[in-house]
Amino acid sequence: MTPTHKTLEAIARFANVDALLAWARQPREVPLIQPQIGTGRDGTRPVTPDEPAWAELRRLDPECRGHLSYEIHPAVPARLSPRIVRVTAHNGSVMTGPGTNSYPVGGGPRNEWAVIDPGPAEAVHIDAILAAAPGPIRWIFATHTHLDHSPGCALLKARTGAAVHGRIALHPEWQDASFAPDVLLEGGERLALDEGVTLSVLHTPGHASNHLCFRLEEEKTLFTGDHVMQLSTVVINPPDGDMAAYLTSLRALCSEDLEWLAPGHGFLMAQPRAAFEKIIAHRLQREAKVLAGLHELGAPAEAALLTHVYADVPERLHPVALRSLRAHLYKLRAEGRVHERAGVWSLQ
Ligand SMILES: [Zn+2]
Repeated sequence: MTPTHKTLEAIARFANVDALLAWARQPREVPLIQPQIGTGRDGTRPVTPDEPAWAELRRLDPECRGHLSYEIHPAVPARLSPRIVRVTAHNGSVMTGPGTNSYPVGGGPRNEWAVIDPGPAEAVHIDAILAAAPGPIRWIFATHTHLDHSPGCALLKARTGAAVHGRIALHPEWQDASFAPDVLLEGGERLALDEGVTLSVLHTPGHASNHLCFRLEEEKTLFTGDHVMQLSTVVINPPDGDMAAYLTSLRALCSEDLEWLAPGHGFLMAQPRAAFEKIIAHRLQREAKVLAGLHELGAPAEAALLTHVYADVPERLHPVALRSLRAHLYKLRAEGRVHERAGVWSLQ
């Protein structure tokens, strides 16, 4: 029934039969739909490439045995490779998707482990991380200091004695004030944690001024924190969030030699470069809408511009969208393309 379902989905976007046939007659590459099999709430079923779990299931279950889950369950560890475990916190929401991922990373001959993003300060989650890590935890890394990523650092440090690594944000608003790193990272460091376990540190400002991504060299896997999230659009919240910096950081990642992304929220993602390019294109599209909105409306009130630019976004998300709108406007102002007077924006 999946083929029927997918066929109906594919043809639903055409207004009529003629439009569908015209499209069907064009020469083009036909994408193959090769489902995986997974288990979860709906029982064992095919998982298609448009679903978030597909790439991860394909990697972890190439023979399609169907024993792995197409859902992310809090506290249930997922072994992603000999060097990587994922354990997700119980904080799923609109903003955090299935919850924040904490990643124990290690598996070298000394069997010592690092944890990337201990998540919120929840004792049950710290217990789950300790249970999931196959060996003692020696290092703690924070991708950034938003409240769903770093408050667990202090708790995990208290339980393990591991040193906390990260950066301090430039602006204190919405940050984890408890964050006290033992080791300040600049970006550019290369940390040999164990034989065959090397993390390189990349400073990727944008979502947060202190955002870091960590590249596990031996697996060409990038732990992206909230720089790239699966499924949802990353919020860029000025002043700590910076749209120009975000795009610059994404463009820099396009030239990294990567095969997988391990996001702060969601499943493993394949084809990193395509993922980065998609986000950049999406942001530039939104920016074009901002410019078109200002062109059409002249000097609109912020609320009117918001409704115009984010017409496709549900209204309940508009308070968040407003922050991204401002991020776009600040970027355009810095580029000399728009200006603001008494809270009213117009084209330069
Ligand atoms: Zn997050």
